[in-house]
Amino acid sequence: MSVRKVVVIPGDGIGTEITEVAQNVIKKVAIHNNLKIEFTTAYAGGAAIDRFGEPLPEETLLVAKGCDAVLLGAVGGPKWDDVEPAIRPEKAILGLRKALGLYANLRPIRVSKMLADYSPLKTEIVAGVDVLIVRELTGGIYFGDKCESEMIDGVEQAWDKELYSVPEISRIVRMACEAAAKRKGRVTSVDKANVLASSRLWRRVAGATAKEYNGIELNNMYVDNCAMQMVLAPRNFDVIVTSNLFGDILSDEAAVIAGSIGMLPSASIGDGPGLYEPIHGSAPDIAGKGLANPIGTILSAAMLLRFSLNEEEAAQRIEQAVDKVLANGYRTQDLYRTGLTKVSTEEMGRLVIDQL
Ligand code: NAD
Repeated sequence: MSVRKVVVIPGDGIGTEITEVAQNVIKKVAIHNNLKIEFTTAYAGGAAIDRFGEPLPEETLLVAKGCDAVLLGAVGGPKWDDVEPAIRPEKAILGLRKALGLYANLRPIRVSKMLADYSPLKTEIVAGVDVLIVRELTGGIYFGDKCESEMIDGVEQAWDKELYSVPEISRIVRMACEAAAKRKGRVTSVDKANVLASSRLWRRVAGATAKEYNGIELNNMYVDNCAMQMVLAPRNFDVIVTSNLFGDILSDEAAVIAGSIGMLPSASIGDGPGLYEPIHGSAPDIAGKGLANPIGTILSAAMLLRFSLNEEEAAQRIEQAVDKVLANGYRTQDLYRTGLTKVSTEEMGRLVIDQL
């Protein structure tokens, strides 16, 4: 059996606590499923600035490029708020995305019945939501040509260019179709084809690409309608695929309807090693106190097993273990309510491991 290599980058703030818990969960599932996984720890973010004077040292890049997957906690914190812009902690994430060629961001939003009342939306609207947002990560307006300021006829203006090529669109739509094939088989491609030329190309290519997949149902939706449907009937979505800009906005909207920032995982995927991290930041206000909810990171570890190590069964075991612990009434302080059992970061990890 081949040995799979996972690089763990704890980062800053609660990063150390939550990645340690998630790493222990992977170790337990590895024993159970007979997987050989080797872990290496690397530095990034503020921790790397303190040690090496830069947020993403060459050493970290090298181990990340040579592994199967990277598990990241979070980076940043007030200690590094005043460092010069070129070495800010967040540069580590952008640098990793670039170096690993990560062109797709996958963000699953699941709202189980027992957590539905944490949502700002009505329980009957959100209970049972299970949507996967696939966002293009390296193209579009965030990376297109831009002009900060120019004078035309004495009037100052600025502009950004939205540009997508056929290969960029087809590879992300393929990824969405492949993910949908393991789910309910429905892909919603989101664009603004009534106004934007780049969206019209997106729609044409999405349609042609989805036809390569038997059993996948593709429908197109304008982004403004999608933003409304996300709060009106979020249960109707299975997989959403969209551009960098629209995906940035829609994935945050979708995260909010879940109502609990500490619970949500994410994956950034390309042709090489994938990067897995919870959607939240380093939460410096609660760091080192055992108060952090590790579930977003544990579920990121499940995604790592699913997408980078191709171990679907191990991924599902972790997801089911998390569901059981929540069903048994255990909560970290962010989700604690009277009548439930409050547990620390470490205790939550141990409870999940006990269920595996
Ligand atoms: P944050 O997500 O760190 O925290 C927002 C709020 O949610 C805080 O009250 C925090 O205590 C709470 N929270 C977050 N994760 C939690 C968890 N797992 N369990 C319980 N509560 C949790 O966002 P912020 O406060 O805006 O940013 C803090 C730092 O994190 C900043 O330096 C920011 O730049 C950085 N950041 C990093 C990433 C990343 O590494 N991907 C993402 C966002 C923010």
